Amino acid sequence: MPNEIMPEGLWTGDYYNEGSGKDGVFDKLKEECGVFGVFGHHDAASLSYYGLHALQHRGEESAGICVADGVQFRYHRGMGLVKEVFGRELLESLQGDRSIGHVRYSTSGDSQITNAQPLVFKYRQGNLAIATNGNIVNEPALRRELEDSGSIFQTTSDTEVIAHLIARSPKNFVEAAKDALQRLVGGFAFLLMTGDKMIVASDPNGLRPLTMGRLGDAYVFASETCAMEVIGAEPVRDIAPGELLVLDADGLHEDRYTEAGRKALCAMEYIYFSRPDSDMNGSNLHSARKRMGSRMALESFVDADVVTGVPDSSISAAIGYAEQTGIPYELGLIKNKYTGRTFIQPSQELREQGVKMKLSAVRRVVEGKRVVMIDDSIVRGTTSRRIVNLLREAGATEVHVRITSPPFQNPCFYGIDTPDRRELIASSKSVDEICREINADSLSFLTPDGLISAIGGYDENSPKGGLCLACFDNEYPTQIDFGGEEKMGCSC
Ligand code: SF4
Repeated sequence: MPNEIMPEGLWTGDYYNEGSGKDGVFDKLKEECGVFGVFGHHDAASLSYYGLHALQHRGEESAGICVADGVQFRYHRGMGLVKEVFGRELLESLQGDRSIGHVRYSTSGDSQITNAQPLVFKYRQGNLAIATNGNIVNEPALRRELEDSGSIFQTTSDTEVIAHLIARSPKNFVEAAKDALQRLVGGFAFLLMTGDKMIVASDPNGLRPLTMGRLGDAYVFASETCAMEVIGAEPVRDIAPGELLVLDADGLHEDRYTEAGRKALCAMEYIYFSRPDSDMNGSNLHSARKRMGSRMALESFVDADVVTGVPDSSISAAIGYAEQTGIPYELGLIKNKYTGRTFIQPSQELREQGVKMKLSAVRRVVEGKRVVMIDDSIVRGTTSRRIVNLLREAGATEVHVRITSPPFQNPCFYGIDTPDRRELIASSKSVDEICREINADSLSFLTPDGLISAIGGYDENSPKGGLCLACFDNEYPTQIDFGGEEKMGCSC
C-alpha cells in the first residue's frame, strides 16, 4: 500500500533542559503534553496562543497550532516555548474559526520537529490534524501491524498510528476515528480536526485530563481549566472516560466510542503536574494539595519550628501542613524563575552545584531552626538530598521531610516519562534507607488512603476514588503487557 500520509519538515537542532530528566539538576518527573482546541471563534489562533501559554508547564520542547476555516488548514509548529514559536505576524496569518494546539515535552533523544504537534496529514478524505496528550501502550504492536501491511511512518509519535488507522478505513471520518480509538490501549486525550469537523476524545479510563468550556458561542477544550481562565472562557465539564464529542456546522454532538472502564484519573495531576489554579472534576488543585498537607500532618506529625514547601508545586501542601499543626509556614526555599531552557549542558560538577541556580535556602528563615520540608514526590532521591543539604548548609538544625504522595515505585505507562524501575529509589529501598540516603532526620510518605481522601470528591463510588495510583501500588487500570512490546512513558 502506498504511503498515504506525509507530514512535513525535519529538525536538526538539539535542546537540553536543565529542569528535568536524568541529565538535569533535578530528577523530577517530566510533565506530559498539553492540548488546546477552539471551535467556532473568529480568532481561534490567538485564543490558542494564550491557552497554550497557560499550559506551558506541561511541555516546553515544542509548540504548534493548526487552524481551519472550513476550506483549508494553516499551521505552524516549532521547537521552543509558545512565546518563542509564535509572533504577532504569524498568528495573524493563521486565519480560521477552529483550531487545535499542542505543547510537547519530549522524551530524551526524541526532541525533533517531526514529532512536534499538531501533526498534519493529507489523505483521501482531505486534511487531518491531530494533537494528543498521553501514551498508547500497544503502539508498537499497532505500528508493526500497519508497517507489515505497507504503511510508512514519518515520525516516532503515537499520533501517526491513529492517523494511519483512520486513513486506511473505508468508513467516514467519525466512524473511522471511533474504530481507531477502540484499538488503542493506554491513557490519552485526543483532539482531531478535519476541514469541517472536530473530534474530542478521552481514553476509556479517563487517565489524562481533558476539559470543555464555552466562550460565547464557541467551544473550548483544554488539558486544564487554567487555560480557560486566561481567555475568559467558562469551564463547563470534564470529558468523560470513553467519551467522544463531535463538533460540526450543526454544533456539538455527544457520543461515545466505547464503554467506560474503571475511572482512573492520574493522581499525579493532583499531586504535582497540574497548575494549582486549575480545577479537576470540581476540585481545585491548590485546595486539594492543602488537604494533602493537612492529612500528612495528621498521619506523621513532627515537632518543628517552621514548615516550608519545595517550590512551586509543594507550597500549597506546606500551607496545609502548617495550618493543621500550628507550626508557622515560612518561605524557607526560593525558586529562581529564570533558569529555564538552555542549550548548554553543564558538566557533572556544575550540575551538582546547579541546584543552587534553581533553589536558594533563606538563611534568616531556617538558621538554627527545626524545619519540616514538604515535597510532592521522590523519584531517584538525588533532588531531595540536594535540597536537604541546602537547608542544612543554611543552618537548619533538623530537616524532617514529608512527601505528599506514597512512595513512587513503578513506572508509568500513560504519558509520564518515568525512569527505569531500578532507578526509582522507593522500588528497592525502605523508608528508613531512603531517609538516610537523602540525609534527613525523618521521612514520611502520605498513605494511599490519605491521598484518596485528601483529593476527595472525584468519584467515591469507583475503586481508589476514581484515581490511577499505579506508580504507587502497581495496579494498572489497563492491560500493560503486550509480549514485551509495550510502550512506556510519554509519546505525545
Ligand atoms: S501510573 Fe502514576 S503517573 Fe502514570 S497515570 Fe497512573 S498515577 Fe499518573
